[in-house]
Amino acid sequence: MKQSGLLTKTRKEVSQQEASVNAQLLERAGYVNKLMAGVYSYLPLGLRVLHKIEHIVREEMNSLGAQEILMPALQPRDSWDVTGRWNTVDVLYTLKAHERDLCLGPTHEEIVTPLVGGYIASYKDLPRAVYQIQTKFRNEARPKSGLLRGREFRMKDLYSFHAQEKDLDEYYEKVTATYLRIFERCGLGALTYLTYASGGIFSKYSHEFQTITPFGEDTIFICEPCKLAINQEILQDQPTCPGCKTDQLVEQKAIEVGNIFKLMYRFSHPFSLTYSDDQNVSRDIPMGCYGLGTSRLMGAIVEVLHDERGIMWPREVAPFNVHLLSLSKKPEISAQAHELYVRLQHAGIEVLYDDRECSAGEKFADADLIGIPLRLVFSDKTVAQDSVEVKMRGAQDANLVSIETLMEFLCQQGL
Ligand code: ATP
Ligand code: MG
Repeated sequence: MKQSGLLTKTRKEVSQQEASVNAQLLERAGYVNKLMAGVYSYLPLGLRVLHKIEHIVREEMNSLGAQEILMPALQPRDSWDVTGRWNTVDVLYTLKAHERDLCLGPTHEEIVTPLVGGYIASYKDLPRAVYQIQTKFRNEARPKSGLLRGREFRMKDLYSFHAQEKDLDEYYEKVTATYLRIFERCGLGALTYLTYASGGIFSKYSHEFQTITPFGEDTIFICEPCKLAINQEILQDQPTCPGCKTDQLVEQKAIEVGNIFKLMYRFSHPFSLTYSDDQNVSRDIPMGCYGLGTSRLMGAIVEVLHDERGIMWPREVAPFNVHLLSLSKKPEISAQAHELYVRLQHAGIEVLYDDRECSAGEKFADADLIGIPLRLVFSDKTVAQDSVEVKMRGAQDANLVSIETLMEFLCQQGL
């Protein structure tokens, strides 16, 4: 894409009310635009990142054998009365239309349980797992951290249905490993911990995936060798590692990027979900649910991966693979830069091509702010050496690579 035609422009400053790093950088670089507290538009660059994150999540969910569906955000009160949660979920957005009580879905247990239940009759119909990636609505009290806490936000929610508790246990372990892989692919692997947290009323623990960042709202105690943590919210006394039992734990601020639960029968009972086993005996269906905030993940990546100049996207979620900067004022050299842009695109490389008429300084500053992992500079100086200057975002130095071997070089970089 040519940057001269891009909808957005970078900004030097955004409102000082935006205290969080992700809100500051994402707005300044033109990824998102705030409509009101906790509600954002995703702009061309931002939507590309969100789609890339959701593509990773989708691939990993499909690898678990889960099937993608899409459930309504608009829901009737009747479904919520079955579980009694109409009056207990404090973040529920409710509305009345034609004398009917409705809500905007903050989560989907009330919808998915009877929906999937309608297709389960016997043990032959189990296990089943469905997921969706969807916009959720929660009337959060203090949405102040950019994409980390939205009132309208994106979530992947997966629900699993099993014949026996041991099948749920096995599936839960698989989902845990899959979640860790998702955070790894999103560049947060080293800073994301499987964390023991409150299981609410259905099980002793739930598991959260907590990413360390100073802006996080949770406090966790980490056992580095076990790569496990425990959430402060469930502590009664001195924290110990759930793995090796040591009390030598490190306290950190963290943000919950995912949360998985063994729901057991919390939802299948009120919706009377049962199946017939091979003896034709009616049995209850234990369930699991597994949430992951894809927009929060985008904010968390920025919280963790940035420097004083801007964002440093990991490769798999960057809006483009390469940022090509054309610095020459000479038409024949600009034409060569354009040729290179076309050639890169033909090779299947996603390029943001800075062809704007502005200073080199501005182009460099914007490239650092936008944060695409690989920067190519095409200028009078590099052309004199039949080369392109190559620099990784975050690296100190740039190198010249000859135009002839550039494709090979990019190939070696995994592009
Ligand atoms: P928190 O404790 O941070 O309020 P939660 O425990 O209420 O979150 P869950 O119901 O477990 O959240 O939702 C599943 C996932 O959805 C969370 O792990 C998080 O990644 C994401 N999420 C939850 N609330 C928000 C929000 N307000 N904005 C963005 N993402 C959210
Ligand atoms: Mg949670």
